Amino acid sequence: MNLRKYEAVIGLEIHIELKTNSKMFCQCSAEYFGARPNSHTCPICLGLPGALPKANVESIKLVQKLGLALNCNIQLSNKFDRKNYFYPDLAKGFQISQYDQPLTSNGFIYIKNQVEQPKKINITRAHLEEDTGKLTHATINNRSVTLIDFNRSGVPLVEIVSEPDMHSSDEARDYAQKLQQIVRYLGISDADMEKGSMRIEPNVSLRNAGDKILPLYKIELKNINSFKFAQAAIEYEIERQTIILDSGKIPQQETRGWNEVKKQTVSQRSKELAHDYRYFPEPDLVPMQFDKIFISKLKTKIPELPAEKIKRFQKQYGLSAYDVDIITNDVDIANFFEQANIAYKKNTPKKIANWIIGELLRRLAQSNQKISQLDILPASLAELLYLIDSGEITNSSAKEIFNQMIKTGNTPKNLLKLMKIKSISPDELDLLVSKVLLANQQAVKDYKAGKTASIGFLIGQLHKKTQGQASPHLAKELILKKLNK
Ligand SMILES: [Zn+2]
Repeated sequence: MNLRKYEAVIGLEIHIELKTNSKMFCQCSAEYFGARPNSHTCPICLGLPGALPKANVESIKLVQKLGLALNCNIQLSNKFDRKNYFYPDLAKGFQISQYDQPLTSNGFIYIKNQVEQPKKINITRAHLEEDTGKLTHATINNRSVTLIDFNRSGVPLVEIVSEPDMHSSDEARDYAQKLQQIVRYLGISDADMEKGSMRIEPNVSLRNAGDKILPLYKIELKNINSFKFAQAAIEYEIERQTIILDSGKIPQQETRGWNEVKKQTVSQRSKELAHDYRYFPEPDLVPMQFDKIFISKLKTKIPELPAEKIKRFQKQYGLSAYDVDIITNDVDIANFFEQANIAYKKNTPKKIANWIIGELLRRLAQSNQKISQLDILPASLAELLYLIDSGEITNSSAKEIFNQMIKTGNTPKNLLKLMKIKSISPDELDLLVSKVLLANQQAVKDYKAGKTASIGFLIGQLHKKTQGQASPHLAKELILKKLNK
């Protein structure tokens, strides 16, 4: 097998559920996760005869905002279309989608390629459609059955289609992660792969290395719900197609799924073409018109996006590219960092960054949580740092307290009492320093006579008295203050 003989050509279709209160064309709640099956349904999302859809304006605005963030053109004239297909996950036999007039088109974003140079990935379009119901295959009384839950049916969904500009599974993952980050910064979706609110469909084909034209076939990988699986599926396809091409054949155009147990892609069906869907304009919804003022008002509501924030953080806080990348990855972490930095009035962003990267993110990864699920306040981190600075607690006690802050949201001072952690108040510490100096008059005399090395002995004595509570740095500071009085 010679991988260099071919170049992978990869494009991504990504579906993301939009965070709206109600569904796309009816008043049912769009918050379906964990709800009793078929409890969020009505004649419209069940597709009962005579029920008429009414478009959810909020979801249209969310797609337009996304389009602006992805550098797309926003189409001022718009309509919905019917995509006809017969599959049990949509009761009415068609999906309301957009065909030749997507809400937004011709955009791009930048990702980093392997040598950390920004690489531009073009975006063909981002259009609005409705999600389908959820099928569950099960065995009940020894019979294979398919259960249908229509709670998801009609939830607004944006489909973002990229150009086939990616050439490795790493680039595909980077692009999907960047898109997820932008969507989360915009706050238009949780884009949670585990919950299915973000799904990836890579299309993969190979061409001879050096060729510029697109391959004659395309393999579409359906509904993948993790970055890891998407990467594995792409890698598998590159190998599978290489073997077929090496044997002088051309892979069959088809749709395949990822089987995580077998670690391979499996054929699902031959690929549908657009004409299989018999698209036509949705007759129950009027075409839409937007004016430029409406769009420019939307533009003012776009928050600072990842690329801008990364640049600002490097400049404003002087952090390394590595630190900034980690801190800005999640917008809530970035906000926590900024607020903690304001609360801790010592202008030491690197110190805050270290606590966030070394402690907070590490513990969040361990418990598989996001900061938005916690009650911890940025001001509490500042309070904790002040406790260390004053010598009241040691660094290792601080870490214990921080762990409880994450778990309970309680403040460091409260936890200090609750956890019965050994601490020394600034007054006690001051008294101990005086005692040490009094009990070691010779060392004090030596210091004053110019033997500065004796300071080390005094620090050691204080260390014993405080049982390591005050850091050597702070101990030195306090002793020198008294000696130089
Ligand atoms: Zn409904």
